[in-house]
Amino acid sequence: MLARAREAGLAAMLAIGNGDTPAEVDCAIPYAEQHDWIWATIGIHPHEARLADRDAYEKMSLLARHPRVLAWGEIGLDYHYDHSPREVQRQVLTEQMELAAAAKNPIIIHCRPSDNSRNAWDDLWQLLRQHWMGNGLGGILHCFTGQEEDARAALDMGFMISFAGNITYPKAQNIRKSPLKCHSTGFLSRPIRLILRRFLIAASAMNRLSWSRWRGKLPNCGAARNRR
Ligand SMILES: [Zn+2]
Repeated sequence: MLARAREAGLAAMLAIGNGDTPAEVDCAIPYAEQHDWIWATIGIHPHEARLADRDAYEKMSLLARHPRVLAWGEIGLDYHYDHSPREVQRQVLTEQMELAAAAKNPIIIHCRPSDNSRNAWDDLWQLLRQHWMGNGLGGILHCFTGQEEDARAALDMGFMISFAGNITYPKAQNIRKSPLKCHSTGFLSRPIRLILRRFLIAASAMNRLSWSRWRGKLPNCGAARNRR
């Protein structure tokens, strides 16, 4: 897959280092050490927040200084699956934001609310305003599922926004409208080019967020990754 990506002209890749447990947060680094066009992240995903401990935080603080580690994530809140208690998710997100800020790393945010709810988004913005806003490090809202107001708040806080395959799902009208609305209203009067540069399209055929046209027709690569 890596060879095909290069042949297709991919210039760089960021390998997400969550692993299946906090003991595996270094799992992406070997790929970054073997290929000068691949970079790594470290971080405890909200699903595994209940497994976070002091050892994991100390290990990540050391790994954050590795020359091939570029960002901290995925970190965040997932109230859809609730694999970890929500209070624990908020604590672990906060702890990792503090450590990422100390290491001068941008963060990659995973945020998924309960069905028909804004609960995780509301908690996320509260925590970002308390622990991240103003440090100038920014980051990425990965696999964006929020509303226009979330897209605006993200751009205002210096985040880039990544749209994954779910933007092609028939019911994903809200997600599709977010960048168009921010564009058409000349959000914060910034140049449109800048706005468009800060929206990312993440095309992953390797997880369950495959593009609508291929949905169900591509092999998935494991139960753990399917939960992301
Ligand atoms: Zn995710």
